[in-house]
Amino acid sequence: MQHETTVTVPGAGNRQMCIDGAWVDSIDGERFDSIDPATGQPLGSVPRGRAADVDRAVAAARRAFDTGRWGQAVSERSRAEVLHRMAALVRDRRDDLARLEVLDCGKPFADAQADIDEVAFMFDYYAGWATKITGDIPPVGPDAMSLVVREPVGVCGLIVPWNYPMLMAAQKVAPALAAGCTVVLKPAEQTPLTALQMAEIALDAGVPDGVFNVVTGFGVEAGEPMLTDPRVDKISFTGSLAVGRHIQRTCAESLKRVTLELGGKSPNIVFADAPMPQAVAGTCLGVFGNQGEVCSAGSRVLVQRSIYEAFVGALVAESESIRLGSGLDPLTTMGPLVSAAQMDRVRGYIDGAPADGARLVHAGRRPDDPALAGGFFVPPMIFEVDDQRPRIAREEIFGPVMTVIPFDDDGDALRLAHDTDYGLAAAIWTSDIGRAMRTARAVRAGVVWVNDSQPAPSEAMWGGYKQSGVGRELGPYALDSYLESKQIYINLGQ
Ligand code: ADP
Repeated sequence: MQHETTVTVPGAGNRQMCIDGAWVDSIDGERFDSIDPATGQPLGSVPRGRAADVDRAVAAARRAFDTGRWGQAVSERSRAEVLHRMAALVRDRRDDLARLEVLDCGKPFADAQADIDEVAFMFDYYAGWATKITGDIPPVGPDAMSLVVREPVGVCGLIVPWNYPMLMAAQKVAPALAAGCTVVLKPAEQTPLTALQMAEIALDAGVPDGVFNVVTGFGVEAGEPMLTDPRVDKISFTGSLAVGRHIQRTCAESLKRVTLELGGKSPNIVFADAPMPQAVAGTCLGVFGNQGEVCSAGSRVLVQRSIYEAFVGALVAESESIRLGSGLDPLTTMGPLVSAAQMDRVRGYIDGAPADGARLVHAGRRPDDPALAGGFFVPPMIFEVDDQRPRIAREEIFGPVMTVIPFDDDGDALRLAHDTDYGLAAAIWTSDIGRAMRTARAVRAGVVWVNDSQPAPSEAMWGGYKQSGVGRELGPYALDSYLESKQIYINLGQ
């Protein structure tokens, strides 16, 4: 596949957003470009939604909810059927969606295909749940009956990031719709296109007007108004810690329900008895996969001292095999970062690292194809640190930057692992089941991988300890977060 921004991929070009089942421009007619990060060239443009557009979308979602176009007034079975149809349409359009995702956010095509496959699975998975949301009948004595029923929380504002654009959207949209909520989805300004394709799929699948709205725009202009709108019952957000904190604070005013999936600085702990070569490959994938633009990236690599030198050598060798290029080139294993701003941010960390006490042990190379000269490429970087004081060992970078540090024993590994405000994920590499389980239980993180890094099955659970978030996503846990519980008490007495 050649890299051309002019390639006609369904969903690229000049788009409208979806409000109340209709394709519309922003009220003031303003637009902004979505940029292809491999070339720096525009790929298309979308409406620049602002408060007045959010107002329309929230009004539509509220109306759809309150008039029973979705939720409790619709049978669970028909909600399930619509969601299954969405899954089928995602599968039918898989490669077009994957190509659009590559052009919008930069990732390799095979990775985008895997994302889209998971999106389809997620719609099927939550379609299954739509008919299985049950309540409870707690005992309250002979003269009464108490029913605890589960109801949709209402109108949900879903604010998603740019690293897995369609997958992060589906992770919220699918459980919200299965629960019976109506939604306003705000994709990241860097990657709005597959969210609009999802709206098209929703309409084609028979989602009623107003149930699924998409407002494209910037965070402060198109996200912020949802935080203060009293018609919005819940905000689910995935993104940075700073914005997450702001959302929590703002939503406290009206006590909106809030789910936050924030950042991480996850430890990747390699014991001397780790299975090789999986530990080497998995460690690299955990930091460099998806260009390092992963909230759960295992970017702090802790290695037991007795194998330290050999392991770092193996990490360098593995990193040398990473090939940067256009995500549409089948030989590419790492694409560009999402935007010029992100590239500059990551480079800032890299450039400042030596003065901060980190030693560079490996720097990859940018692609040499002149067609990609304007692309936002940052190659893999490995730094050694003596402690975790340097910024690159403390702060979430969201780029392909690894720090490695030796540790002496299990206690030392845990001390280093816990030296962070975050608690999203941790990977543990060892052949000793006892050590694996002891460490897994001791680590303060919401997700722990043993002899693996990064799998996030939709059926399981996702979410962070400490400052990595509030609430849980995926599996039945996500569904719970879109439901309220109501107790109905019936007096049976005479
Ligand atoms: P990043 O730094 O990775 O871009 P952000 O947290 O800034 O992550 O962005 C994640 C999502 O949050 C994006 O959709 C962005 O537009 C949105 N966002 C940013 N600022 C705000 C805000 N003040 N209110 C609501 N949404 C916001």
